[in-house]
Amino acid sequence: MSNCYSLLAVALRLLCTRADSGFMGISGFMGLLCSVGLLAPARCDEGMFPISELANIGLKNRGIELTADEIFNPQAKSIVDGICRVNGCTGSFVSNAGLIITNHHCAFDAIQKASTPERDLLNDGFIAQTLADEVPAPNYTVRITESYADVSAEVLSATSPEMGYSDRTKSIDRRKKELEIQAEKDNPGMRAEVAEMFVGKTYVLFLYTYLKDVRLVFAPPISIGAFGGELDNWEWPRHTGDYSFMRAYTAPDGKPAEYSPNNVPYVPKRPLRVQPKGIDEGDTVFLLGYPGRTVRNRTESFIQYEQNVRLPLIVSLYSWQIAEMEKAGAKDRAVAIKHSTRIKSLANVEKRSRGQLIGLQRAKIQQQRADRETKLKAFIASDPVKYSKYALLLDQIDMVYSEMSKKGTLETYLRELRTAPRALAIAFALYDGATERAKPDLEREAPYMDRNWSQSTQQIKLDVGDRDQATDAKMLLGMLELLQSTPGAQDIEPVARVLNSSEGLNKLASSVMENTKLGDLEFVTSCFNKSPQELIASGDPALLWIADLYPTYVKQRDKDKEREGKLNQLYGSLIEIQRLAEASEFLPDANATLRLTVGKVEAYSPIDAIVKKPITTLDGLLEKTTGQEPYVTPVPVLEAARAKRFAGLEHPRLKTIPVAFLYSTDTTGGNSGSPVLNAKGELVGVNFDRAFEATINDFAWNQRYSRSIGVDVRYVLWITGEVFGAKHLVQEMLSK
Ligand code: ASP
Repeated sequence: MSNCYSLLAVALRLLCTRADSGFMGISGFMGLLCSVGLLAPARCDEGMFPISELANIGLKNRGIELTADEIFNPQAKSIVDGICRVNGCTGSFVSNAGLIITNHHCAFDAIQKASTPERDLLNDGFIAQTLADEVPAPNYTVRITESYADVSAEVLSATSPEMGYSDRTKSIDRRKKELEIQAEKDNPGMRAEVAEMFVGKTYVLFLYTYLKDVRLVFAPPISIGAFGGELDNWEWPRHTGDYSFMRAYTAPDGKPAEYSPNNVPYVPKRPLRVQPKGIDEGDTVFLLGYPGRTVRNRTESFIQYEQNVRLPLIVSLYSWQIAEMEKAGAKDRAVAIKHSTRIKSLANVEKRSRGQLIGLQRAKIQQQRADRETKLKAFIASDPVKYSKYALLLDQIDMVYSEMSKKGTLETYLRELRTAPRALAIAFALYDGATERAKPDLEREAPYMDRNWSQSTQQIKLDVGDRDQATDAKMLLGMLELLQSTPGAQDIEPVARVLNSSEGLNKLASSVMENTKLGDLEFVTSCFNKSPQELIASGDPALLWIADLYPTYVKQRDKDKEREGKLNQLYGSLIEIQRLAEASEFLPDANATLRLTVGKVEAYSPIDAIVKKPITTLDGLLEKTTGQEPYVTPVPVLEAARAKRFAGLEHPRLKTIPVAFLYSTDTTGGNSGSPVLNAKGELVGVNFDRAFEATINDFAWNQRYSRSIGVDVRYVLWITGEVFGAKHLVQEMLSK
């Protein structure tokens, strides 16, 4: 068990709020928040520590040879200057010219969008020999954390006790947007985001340098970048070279700018140092990254909802959709390329969900939460004042999840109806956009606000290119058939109208998909400035469908907001009382803000009598290679391996190139692409996955089974420089 400090201190610090919200460095912020006297040794293993906590988590005791200030310091250069968020992933700057290393699966969409059957970058890989060869990735953005400030008081002052739940959500949302817009005005060119740390309680405003010109620099062939495919995904041992290079650009004056051929590479304040010596078993490693979402501070009733409703629905819907898309692409490479990003992301979530369903049972998470709540109820009952305030709390939360469970199937199917067929997804974005953009900026749904609209339209345009008519018709028909046998569907008038159409579902689905013009980029672009009435007047069948269904979706969105508002308030109170009852075991759930996690390169035992060692090698890769999908290895790799052309990158003990490694950090989705750093903060690998048992991390972390997986920097350097001859990139990284 690792040595650490009381998580209560962390919780208390984050629960404390203050009225002023000027940006400041870590020590000033911490000083104002709470007294440091709260620190005390306590049991804990997990830890996605917010950067506000670095000074208080005992970095040294955990094996990190850096001070909190060396890791993050808004007033000086620090490690965090070398870390960026790349869309939903993490990346690292590894040169003075904006070169970013991230995962192959994070750059996948950019690689796919640039691929055609004739120039198949997915299959063949890609190397830009010069800056001019780099390929723009128009829907990618990069952000770098610059500072943060607690704005809980400002956010919560927008609410009042007598407010309805839906109004509460809307007020919080609006206030967050106001703060963001103001901060962006005060800091031109930067991106501001208010993140909820503890649900309903604490809010932090982060300021990011925000780069919008991002380009693809290098991608290994998919047979390396995703070696082992879905069979190996979420598994250990692993032999996957899941990395790629991108580059961020700015205007010639160094300011963030949209893509322009005149732009120049971004100069990071301090790129990460790449350490070609790598790691060995037992070494301390730490990660900085943007973990997306965990749900560790939720109730037993939430676990029941996940276990019995949401996760099984995802598994069945996604596996069906993946099978349809694979069938469609089997004989036509152009169609396969169009579907590849979506297949990959659905398959990733589908397998993770299966892992979570097994893990929830195996780790008895529901029982653990039930026990925790039994204790909490006893604690509440022990004191009349607490009893009067909190007695109904858990029941009220349970009621929300019980309603969500009852309606889960219908609500999920309705949502998939407008997301599974691409044309309906585009139609919804256009119609929703037209409706929302008629409102004042602050009242719009986030994607349609002025500050987000150009990114949203960019994404819609790219989605058009990925549309395949025949697959769309299958998706639509499949969803309609599912709805036909779902209780409650016939009670929704526009849905019933479709389900009972005399034409028959098959014909209906085919004819909508045949006649819509939403696969035509020019038509879609012409819709961006149309009003809802004009969209209807276009007579496009997909737009007409969505217009008819739109009130149903708006009603659902309002319902979701009402639930969110209710849970927001109830969880706020739950944290308050749990904090008193337990005096530890609290960290804010992951929320896509910057976190640090630390662990060791170490083996694990997933099941009785099996121990899995933490480093895989090129020898293992060759053994696994069958020449049949998904275990195909490109000839240049085989040749370099057989000739033992190791370029001095072999592991001193293993005498061969290490490929991937395993370590006991606390990670989740969004940590994809995070640098794996040694004790000195040098890059020794790139995080890309977790072991199957660790899919359960999102609900609970455990030293026994939670292991993250990274690609070894030596494999990265070897594949890039020795195998594919991109020595200019290796030099760019190592020569700074
Ligand atoms: N491979 C994972 C993902 O894509 C990374 C993780 O969740 O640990 O989400």
